[in-house]
Amino acid sequence: MATGRWVVLDVGETLIDETRVFATWADVLGVPRFTLAALMGGMIARGQPFSDALAALAPDWHQRADEVERAFGGFAASDLYPDALRALAGLRAAGLRVAVIANQPAVRDAQLRLLGVEPEVMAMSEALGVAKPDPAFFAAALDLLGRPDPGHVAYVGDRVDNDVRPAAAAGLRPVWIRRGPWGLLHRDDGGDAALEVRSLDELVDRVGELWPPVPGGRGAASTA
Ligand SMILES: [Mg+2]
Repeated sequence: MATGRWVVLDVGETLIDETRVFATWADVLGVPRFTLAALMGGMIARGQPFSDALAALAPDWHQRADEVERAFGGFAASDLYPDALRALAGLRAAGLRVAVIANQPAVRDAQLRLLGVEPEVMAMSEALGVAKPDPAFFAAALDLLGRPDPGHVAYVGDRVDNDVRPAAAAGLRPVWIRRGPWGLLHRDDGGDAALEVRSLDELVDRVGELWPPVPGGRGAASTA
């Protein structure tokens, strides 16, 4: 039975392994994939946008985006982290409502659905007209969920700057998934994450920790 609790999932490096996205960028820009990956790691470690790595290789990189998208061809099943679909099912089985709301082009919505990612609510930043870490993104997300108590909403993402910190500021329960370059290089200096996990499998195992049962009250999993 569904509770009033939501788990909202990010896409890049949460549900989707972005290896092929950035391999495609390297191929289109005509540089070794290793060069782009290492440059991106340097930018992330310095707190700079990853797009600075693209700009370092090609100042006109944003004019190549359409070419990259054609070569990439959209998300494929092999881009999903192996635990992605399992986690959606596991969270639902735990009585939680599941949404996917992330910084992505609008076309990713239909692509994810074709791969079997079918949450109760799905929205991409391009369609919303607002992106993380803007507080308006999280306000729009709460609107899409029907304005639940923000404390009853977990936001799961790999980045401290775009996911953990702004989700905490919006009153949501941030879950930091520590995989991918951002998840491994960032530091949660403010201790904003309500929960840190290494995988979505671990999230399913530990999601109950987000809403511990109130002593003498009803358990988290049965609280409407
Ligand atoms: Mg991400």
